[in-house]
Amino acid sequence: PPLYKQRHDFVIQFVKDHKPKKVVDLGCGDLKLLRKLRFHREIQLLAGVDTNSSVITKKKHSLSPLPTEYLQPPVHPLTVELYHGSVTKREPRIKGYDLATCIELVEHLHPAEVEKFAEVLFGYMAPSAAVISTPNADYNPLLPGCSGFRHLDHKFEWTQAEFCSWALEICRSYGYRVEFTGVGRHPSDEESVGFCSQIGVFYKDTSRCSMLLRNEAYEDVPVYSLLYKVEY
Ligand code: SAM
Repeated sequence: PPLYKQRHDFVIQFVKDHKPKKVVDLGCGDLKLLRKLRFHREIQLLAGVDTNSSVITKKKHSLSPLPTEYLQPPVHPLTVELYHGSVTKREPRIKGYDLATCIELVEHLHPAEVEKFAEVLFGYMAPSAAVISTPNADYNPLLPGCSGFRHLDHKFEWTQAEFCSWALEICRSYGYRVEFTGVGRHPSDEESVGFCSQIGVFYKDTSRCSMLLRNEAYEDVPVYSLLYKVEY
């Protein structure tokens, strides 16, 4: 399967294993992942956020219930909410979720925004778990015709060592632990090259988190705009 599907399948498998009730997809784009997630009925609240409001507006109806779902009320209720907003802003309505996914988003942020994003995601939203995927620069020499970045809009692409040190710093600062994995292995399977897309799975370390809790009084003022909401 294409790489984007492998990344989304990784998230689906994570959801099957961990059964989160509240899931937010950061940088949800054309809603492909949300459309898959909505069939996992352990999820009761499914949110999506993107700075590109036109793609959300164009695709939002693909998340409405199917006619058969209207006829047959679901056993578990599900609410879907789509927001226009940036992951660098503190939004109270997506705080304290069980899972935040961030698939191929971080490399689109400028370095100063990456820092802000880490603070917002891990210091403010503080989900129980977060799945972050990003291109692995160590793999690029194996990609045919890839000189420079994989995409024009990428602000950087991290080597495995760079991703690792960023992730470990987050763990130290915000009280998380991280496991590294990925999707897309080269047939020659050179261990050192790693996966085409590298993935960090972060888990909140509840004991350390409470110790690190900053006593900053955040003003819980909504900053995102709600573009779509549907209740199943
Ligand atoms: N996550 C989707 C996927 O797996 O197919 C889309 C990935 S796409 C490469 C990156 C997405 O991040 C785009 O939809 C873009 O609009 C969004 N994005 C970029 N900067 C953002 C920001 N600061 N806050 C929220 N979304 C952002």
